[in-house]
Amino acid sequence: MSRVRVITLNAALGPLDYRLPHGMVAEPGSIVIAPLGPRQVIGVVWEDGSFPDAETVGDNRLRPLLSTIDAPPIPAPLRRLIEWTANYYLAPPAAVLRMALASVSALEGARSVTEYRATGKPPLRNTPKREQALERIGERQGLVRELAMIGGVSDAVIRGLVKDGAIEAVEVSLDTPFPVPDPAFSPVDLSPEQSAASARLVELTRAEKFQPLLLDGVTGSGKTEVYFEAIAEALAMGKQSLVLLPEIALTEPFLNRFAKRFGHEPVAWHSGLRQSERRRAWRAIAAGSAMVVVGARSALFLPYARLGLIVVDEAHETSFKQEDGVRYHARDVAVMRGMMEQCPVILASATPAIETRHQVALHRYEEIRLPARYGGAEMPEIFGINMLESPPERGRWIAPTLVAAMKETLEKGEQALLFLNRRGYAPLTLCRHCGHRFQCPNCTAWMVEHRLTHRLACHHCGHVIPAPRECPECHADDSLVACGPGVERIADEVKALFPGARTAIVTSDTLWSPAKAAEFVRDVSGGAVDIIVGTQLVTKGYHFPNLTLVGVIDADLGLEGGDLRAAERTFQQIVQVSGRAGRGEKPGRVFIQTRLLDAPVIKALLSGDSARFYATETEGRRIAHAPPFGRFAAIIVSDTDATEAKEAAHRIGNARPEVEGVEIYGPAPAPLAVLRGRHRHRILIHARRQIDVQDVIRAWLGTVQWKASTRVAVDIDPYSFV
Ligand code: ADP
Ligand code: ZN
Repeated sequence: MSRVRVITLNAALGPLDYRLPHGMVAEPGSIVIAPLGPRQVIGVVWEDGSFPDAETVGDNRLRPLLSTIDAPPIPAPLRRLIEWTANYYLAPPAAVLRMALASVSALEGARSVTEYRATGKPPLRNTPKREQALERIGERQGLVRELAMIGGVSDAVIRGLVKDGAIEAVEVSLDTPFPVPDPAFSPVDLSPEQSAASARLVELTRAEKFQPLLLDGVTGSGKTEVYFEAIAEALAMGKQSLVLLPEIALTEPFLNRFAKRFGHEPVAWHSGLRQSERRRAWRAIAAGSAMVVVGARSALFLPYARLGLIVVDEAHETSFKQEDGVRYHARDVAVMRGMMEQCPVILASATPAIETRHQVALHRYEEIRLPARYGGAEMPEIFGINMLESPPERGRWIAPTLVAAMKETLEKGEQALLFLNRRGYAPLTLCRHCGHRFQCPNCTAWMVEHRLTHRLACHHCGHVIPAPRECPECHADDSLVACGPGVERIADEVKALFPGARTAIVTSDTLWSPAKAAEFVRDVSGGAVDIIVGTQLVTKGYHFPNLTLVGVIDADLGLEGGDLRAAERTFQQIVQVSGRAGRGEKPGRVFIQTRLLDAPVIKALLSGDSARFYATETEGRRIAHAPPFGRFAAIIVSDTDATEAKEAAHRIGNARPEVEGVEIYGPAPAPLAVLRGRHRHRILIHARRQIDVQDVIRAWLGTVQWKASTRVAVDIDPYSFV
């Protein structure tokens, strides 16, 4: 009798055994349908003997598999990656497998689907809901459910619009092949340094072996052009390439640039895809016909048939760390995937993480440097503005020195960028009369005023309320004051200072889709914007030759929390945003507003001595046994009931193991003590490098019980400590 082990997509279940009926063929990796109680579930056949801890069921009680799904099996290297990820991040294998099977419709047999789009004709009968739906849908196309979501209305409203002729059905073939990018379409002439770098990348790609490599090039050095040559080589070899980008907003400019070089766009994979697009991409990736895939971190777990190259662009970005569900770091998992697939992994960054530099120092990663900007562009000149000595007047945030520099820039017809990593208008609203502060009812956080949308919003849970007119406590009139600046407030100040200038606010509120990002790039490149005010979203990847001035409104903001990576992150952010200045022929200037001119990170930014900054930071980590010299892990216990959360955390705390080389701190209420209505407690584990901290935690948590309502999350190599 043949018994097969199956991992289902149900994260609450471990591996299950089934009987393979006569005549059914199901190799490891096959996607199958299995019975589970009265239901049917999708699963993947795994090797015999995998997951030795799984419960085994007697032969006579095995139920037969129902059928196999007509899709390529999950390849062995990806199965190994799923096992590794589950094991390393202490996640259920099913939760990791879900990321590989990220499109359920990809598993269905149908080859076409009915989607809907606006006809442009007004409906026979108009209502505010219908009007809203049509306006928001615009030229988009999708399933009824998808259009209802976009339009913010019910399915019934969309169906009504179909009946009325304002929306029509379109038949979409799901499996039209993607055009294949042409490696010889339009190669660029590389500089001698770029040529040398790309020759090495091409050589590694051709070798079809695992090799991580840090492509360490200053902003504007042409890292993208250089790794494009490795992609061209992979294409010529008939192998697939994967490019991971930190932010969905970056994909559109990337797609255009790619199309210029290769004649066609790559296949994009991100959360904004419609169901039919997802299926098409998934199928083509699994069939090996999607040759170049670009995506956010979730593209990492897709079932590439022939992966020959992985690139992680802006590899230092912390958004590669997933903060819920499976809490993996896409940069680290990308390196593991390269090992499983036996292909090179290129980490590109102007400001690599200390962890990455350390791997270079250990000779585990190769390094290629591009120390100069392409085409003779100079690095910008950097100035500090001491906010203690020459501050702006009260209630303003832009110091006179920066205002003067902005004026000069505008007079020359050039563009300026102001950077402040805070969305909205003001981070706190309070009542001048009674002192009431607007706090989120679900989180330990202030409600942030958003003037553009006339709302207060919680940036943790998304709770919003209409902008209040009066204090809800004392009902005093005109007593509410906005405290501190966000980008919207800076933009207001800019408008008051330069009434004629055209400003653009760039945050995740305004650039929420690739299309919006493309529009922004068009506007700035076409000269329709004079001053950009933005959050960390503008620090990444953009190339605007006429942008010559960057102002950092508050360089000290990121240092306040004081966590492990505060200085490193501040350094990276400011170097990246500075890197937007003077990328063309005109030289750039950067002004950094700070109250901490003596802080090592600010000094390093002003002197440009990044080598020294990295050396000191690294030494600090070594002394503290912090990553990469030691390891951290966190256990986060949460419950909607405050007592329950506290008690569970203490039960876990009391069961703490005594292990040499492991220190355990807490439990303590988390800095973000309540999040989305759940009370949170944290335990921090600090271990020496050689300790298998996962094993310690697995054994420890295996001894403790908690209620079903309590969530216990483990965060290995945490980036967030709140
Ligand atoms: P980085 O990613 O290192 O900041 P990019 O790859 O974005 O740099 O390159 C900066 C700019 O210089 C881009 O507009 C790019 O097209 C241009 N560039 C770089 N190298 C070349 C080259 N060899 N030929 C033409 N343009 C180049
Ligand atoms: Zn909240």
